[in-house]
Amino acid sequence: MTALGHFIGGKHVAGTSGRTADVFNPATGEVQAKVALASVAEIRAAVENAREAQPKWAATNPQRRARVFMKFVDLLNQNMDELAVMLSKEHGKTVEDSKGDIVRGLEVCEFVIGIPHLSKGEFTEGAGPAIDMYSIRQPVGIGAGITPFNFPGMIPMWMFAPAIACGNAFILKPSERDPSLPLRLAELMIEAGLPAGILNVVNGDKEAVDALLTDPDIGAISFVGSTPIARHVYGTAAANGKRAQCFGGAKNHMIIMPDADLDQAVNALMGAGYGSAGERCMAVSVAVPVGEETANRLVEKLIPKIESLRIGPYTDDKADMGPVVTKAAQERINGLIDRGVEEGAELLVDGRGFKLQGYENGYFVGGSLFDHVSPDMDIYRQEIFGPVLSVVRAKNYEEALDLPMKHEYGNGVAIYTRDGDAARDFASRINIGMIGINVPIPVPLAYHSFGGWKASSFGDLNQHGTDSIKFWTKTKTITARWPSGIKDGAEFVMPVMK
Ligand code: NAD
Repeated sequence: MTALGHFIGGKHVAGTSGRTADVFNPATGEVQAKVALASVAEIRAAVENAREAQPKWAATNPQRRARVFMKFVDLLNQNMDELAVMLSKEHGKTVEDSKGDIVRGLEVCEFVIGIPHLSKGEFTEGAGPAIDMYSIRQPVGIGAGITPFNFPGMIPMWMFAPAIACGNAFILKPSERDPSLPLRLAELMIEAGLPAGILNVVNGDKEAVDALLTDPDIGAISFVGSTPIARHVYGTAAANGKRAQCFGGAKNHMIIMPDADLDQAVNALMGAGYGSAGERCMAVSVAVPVGEETANRLVEKLIPKIESLRIGPYTDDKADMGPVVTKAAQERINGLIDRGVEEGAELLVDGRGFKLQGYENGYFVGGSLFDHVSPDMDIYRQEIFGPVLSVVRAKNYEEALDLPMKHEYGNGVAIYTRDGDAARDFASRINIGMIGINVPIPVPLAYHSFGGWKASSFGDLNQHGTDSIKFWTKTKTITARWPSGIKDGAEFVMPVMK
């Protein structure tokens, strides 16, 4: 049995709390490791370590900080196969999908190689007589990140890359479901030349998270996970005087207009609905065909594709999707499918009870499809986070637009149409953070920023892109006068620019 501890001060350390969590292989149901759950004292030790290392790192010039990421990107590419298998083994997604997870994180590491340019300040010469005014961006100090199970490579890198490039020390508290990859990333950062103590990984659960949220030496908290926890983290961090960006759950709709290329839309729905077994915050979980004819044609094309999804363990390189992450997740998803049936939705493809020969104890759920779902149903309101697609039929464009507009979540949304005017109107009016026009999963690239609206996000700055540089730094503005001012005598009125 592998014992996974923490990574503090540039090396692996064993947990001392005596508490552990099981790490499963979701394809077989076997416990393959025990991960330590940190105590408040262990979190404090990591913070002390970070506090000691950070000033020297902040004083390291930004070109040198960037070079660590150049090397790190190389190491990620060199070790890609090993890293992807490590991820798949604990998460359950296919190895190719795990590579995508890592690459989307790697791209943010590439983005922060531009840190010398990204962190430059602003300067106004002659803002008044002999007065110059300039703003500089200084690191927050110590940042912490709390990440979900579903992207154990990408999301930690979305956080630690900009935080560290900006001159901060960083404490990562990864998901206890799949902690191996985050620990390995920390090792590779050291190999890339990062000084010890700048990136610490502390495994744990609520106890560790709450210790981070109340620690007086931590200046900024980045969180990604479910909405109830995002709310808790945001509120607690703010009450403790920290800046926080907290990203929560989602219910992403795809509107299919009558003029859409239906085959394209169906393929998009298959990938966005069932890829990674629907365990993506940008998964499409609601299809909204406009008009009965579009709906009938859509459902007809979806059914055989869902029925023929290839479901397998990560070792099956032809699998479209793997198991879900835990038995609890499997039971929750099956329970929500039961609920949908009770509520009167029409279950056209039933993934409950899916069994894979040789993997009978794995946490598999077959692809499922509901038709005639309505907005008052639990299966519409709740995030299912599994391979379940709900079809909500809309009579016209306005009715379709109204659905995501009124939904509690506002992460992503897509419209499939050939009509530029409809697409343009949609993008302008919708109250959601990330919009795809004939693109099913509109995850912005590293140099733009990622974040939802409404209950999908709390805080005012997004992840990666220039927002991340703002989040991980504080602005300091200096007004400087170098004339003979003071010897000319004091001024007693409020200073204004003359
Ligand atoms: P989760 O909320 O259960 O866990 C996220 C993190 O919070 C983990 O590190 C976990 O240890 C910690 N945590 C759990 N319970 C806690 C508690 N009571 N107090 C303090 N910390 C706690 O989420 P998950 O199941 O790991 O991930 C799936 C969720 O994340 C989905 O809702 C998904 O939509 C969301 N997600 C959102 C985004 C986004 O960018 N908006 C991206 C990925 C995932």
